[in-house]
Amino acid sequence: MVHVGIGYDVHELVAGRRLVLGGVEIPHTKGLDGHSDADALLHAITDAVLGAIGEVDIGHLFPNTDPSWKNAPSRIFVEEAARRVRARGGRIVNVDASLIAEQPKIYPHLAAMKAHIAAALGIEVRKVGVKATTNERMGFVGREEGIAAMAVAAVDLPEN
Ligand code: MG
Repeated sequence: MVHVGIGYDVHELVAGRRLVLGGVEIPHTKGLDGHSDADALLHAITDAVLGAIGEVDIGHLFPNTDPSWKNAPSRIFVEEAARRVRARGGRIVNVDASLIAEQPKIYPHLAAMKAHIAAALGIEVRKVGVKATTNERMGFVGREEGIAAMAVAAVDLPEN
């Protein structure tokens, strides 16, 4: 039986931080602020996978009050979500995600992001979708105050 999950995340863009999206460091004047590496794309994907198997969200699994996750690469969150799928005897069918960012241009980095996400989830690259769009200069994304990401995941789980 295929179960679907949805994930959404947003982080603030600030000076003096690295910009890491989909596990890929992207040269930019600002980076995303957060306790971990603040990779909003990987956080949205983690929540989508966790949601598909009915588990609690990333913020409860990896609290930002826990020093273990300080500046942690968000790949470990994705890997843990995938591990929980396997522990349930399930398999990830596919993951699809959208990044909403005014700057910088994301397209040149999409292939590297997909490869990183596929490796973290333990699935083939062709099962990972990542797209990018701007917010047409509207709202906090449009003012380049932050970057948002949304994701869905389909997970095939045994009936019982
Ligand atoms: Mg987050």
